[in-house]
Amino acid sequence: MPREDEGKRGPRLRDALRSLPSVDVVLGALESEHAIRGIPRRRVTEAVREALARERRRLLGAGEAPAAAADALEIGRRVVAELTRAGAFSLAPLINATGVVLHTNLGRALLSPLAQERLLRVAGAYSNLEMDIATKERGSRYAHVAGLLRRLTGAEASLVVNNNAAAVLLALESLARGKEVIVSRGELIEIGGEFRIPDIMRRSGAVLREVGTTNRTHLKDYVTALGPETGLILKVHTSNYRVVGFTAAVSSRELVELGRPRGIPVMEDLGSGCLVDLRPHGFPWEPTVPEVVASGVDLVSFSGDKLLGGPQAGIVVGRADLIERLAQNPVNRALRIDKFTIAALEATLYAYEAGTALATIPTLRMLTEPLAAIRRRARGLLRRIPADAQRALGAGVVEARSQVGGGALPTVELPTAALALGTAARPARALDEALRAARPPVLGRLLDDRLLLDCRTVLPGDIPALARALTSL
Ligand SMILES: *Cc1c(COP(=O)(O)O)cnc(C)c1O
Repeated sequence: MPREDEGKRGPRLRDALRSLPSVDVVLGALESEHAIRGIPRRRVTEAVREALARERRRLLGAGEAPAAAADALEIGRRVVAELTRAGAFSLAPLINATGVVLHTNLGRALLSPLAQERLLRVAGAYSNLEMDIATKERGSRYAHVAGLLRRLTGAEASLVVNNNAAAVLLALESLARGKEVIVSRGELIEIGGEFRIPDIMRRSGAVLREVGTTNRTHLKDYVTALGPETGLILKVHTSNYRVVGFTAAVSSRELVELGRPRGIPVMEDLGSGCLVDLRPHGFPWEPTVPEVVASGVDLVSFSGDKLLGGPQAGIVVGRADLIERLAQNPVNRALRIDKFTIAALEATLYAYEAGTALATIPTLRMLTEPLAAIRRRARGLLRRIPADAQRALGAGVVEARSQVGGGALPTVELPTAALALGTAARPARALDEALRAARPPVLGRLLDDRLLLDCRTVLPGDIPALARALTSL
């Protein structure tokens, strides 16, 4: 730059920099702003400092002689816009330290990095959602996951709807409207959120034919109930409770042997529907989707966002002719999945086929993470909190139990490590409240007079923010 320009720029730049308001002056200008009441003072001060630093950089970087600096009101306006933008959205991430891996109120399954990436990719671009590009003919949105589902479950056909409740409704309405559906009394479940088998049955226009008793149902109970009115035999996984003691239930295979010769389809609502056997990781036996399909059941339905670890969806797999009846039902149009679901589901299923499911799907990773690794994360969190803050909070690492959640494996308790907090001066309830008000909010679990932050569901990336939230308490 020629010397005389620099000479001109020098004093003007100095003047512009000198005209920058101070932090206190901007804070004073913000005093009357309603929008920022309730935002912690420190947060506001920090944002003002950052806005002033940005303005200073802008002045220094201006190629020509810089214009005058923004005044206090203008800087204040920018700070308000920024602080309220961060808090402007209702649906927002939080830190789940409850230890409940599939927490329906906290959004159930987290998507794998691949599923997130595929979802974003189709969100901002046109796609071949319903077009066969090679022939330019209309394609099916379900085709993008049909091959994966066929190979992973062994079933010949599939259909995906909005959630598993919708899948059950659609199947009943398509196959048993005006007919009887035989269900064991021990399986007339309510899974919360208004989903009760008898209610869904009524809505679908099917007639519930209950058989057996709460604790014991035998094959002869089904046999007695069979008749010309029978449209479907339904088996329902008792996802969120267990009947223990003097019990009896009829297996899927026996029901198939009963229905097949009479031409009556058998459907199983598996609820969670796991594709992999979790027994090697210390879980009790659960029927996997391929096992149920192999038993000969005509239709199997399960959720996309429970143990499968994908997006919210209801997946039905089974006999091609029955799936076709579900697909052709006009009700299916109302339960249709969108491209985001398909993108995320395809990526999730892809991981199962590639053998990377346990390593990359957060639900499976959290469920199978060894206690030692969770304990290391809990200790790492504790170490990030200064010693005086640790003392003030009564913080220490303890062993606890976490739950699977999502109405899956209700009797399973997983050994875990948690940060326990709470003292006479800082009671757990008050800490719980303060942490829920933090940004991002932190949800723990109150147990007796302690607040437990279960590190099974705390993501490694959450640790710095969680440590900051705890330190600022
Ligand atoms: C969870 C569950 C459902 C409902 O599934 P959503 O995907 O939440 O709609 C239906 N049946 C059983 C047995 C379940 O466990």
